Amino acid sequence: MNKRLTNKVTVITGAGSGIGRCSALLFAREGAVVVVNDLNEANGRAVVTEIQEAGGQALFVEADVSEAESVKTMVQTVMDEYGKIDVLFNNAGISNVGALHEVDVEQWDRIMNVNVKGVFLPCKFSLPFMMERYAGTIINMSSCVAEIGLARRAAYGATKGAVLALTKAMQVDYAPHGIRINALVPGTIMTPFVQNYLQNAYDDPQAAIASIKKRQLSGELGTPQDVAYAALFLASDESKFMMGSPLYIDGGATFGKDA
Ligand code: NAD
Repeated sequence: MNKRLTNKVTVITGAGSGIGRCSALLFAREGAVVVVNDLNEANGRAVVTEIQEAGGQALFVEADVSEAESVKTMVQTVMDEYGKIDVLFNNAGISNVGALHEVDVEQWDRIMNVNVKGVFLPCKFSLPFMMERYAGTIINMSSCVAEIGLARRAAYGATKGAVLALTKAMQVDYAPHGIRINALVPGTIMTPFVQNYLQNAYDDPQAAIASIKKRQLSGELGTPQDVAYAALFLASDESKFMMGSPLYIDGGATFGKDA
């Protein structure tokens, strides 16, 4: 059977958990060589082991996407090991729940650094190598919070709006270099990211989950697989006519209203 990412070197940031982990496993099954990046070494290495035990190819590279030297070293490691980067999936991200006056200045700086600078830096250091080959695909992780005003998500929403704007603007600059850049726009997906903020930021996590489910027309949260399949499409040549586009995987949360 034809695989969709045969021999494509794909770097996935934050691939030790949730959507990144699921995408790493799926990309590897589709023939990709997967560079699993994460801050969390144990989780990242566990994903690499899982891929290798299933017969796939993977390498763990620990790096903090918000630190320039760390990202530069990661990109150089990938180039030394494989000589190219076909796909860069900027997935790593952190959450923040709170109305704006409740957000500490340190929390604001941290989320901007991880969610926005953490997209800028891997792009900045990978793009010259992609440009040399006149080839490459970048997938940036946004969120439907970039499009809809959602209670107590101002700081997080600002980061994901920035990622969407960055995606569109970057595409214009790099289209002449044969590089495609698109964004994923998920609704709420059940991952450790959501489990943590449900536990830590809500007095009644059960009521919170019921209200979050209502936002989706599907009445359910998404799964990491739902987003991983969208990422696979954007990573593969099947999406070659998609450029600077947001791809919504949100159970209708952005455009639907049931009353
Ligand atoms: P997750 O918490 O399960 O996984 C995120 C991973 O990123 C973790 O393994 C974490 O260690 C890693 N990470 C965090 N900071 C890092 C850094 N500075 N450098 C390298 N790695 C780092 O989260 P998830 O739900 O899988 O989310 C993945 C992405 O999807 C995030 O960007 C998130 O904002 C976005 N997203 C999630 C949802 C959702 O509902 N889960 C919805 C829309 C968008």
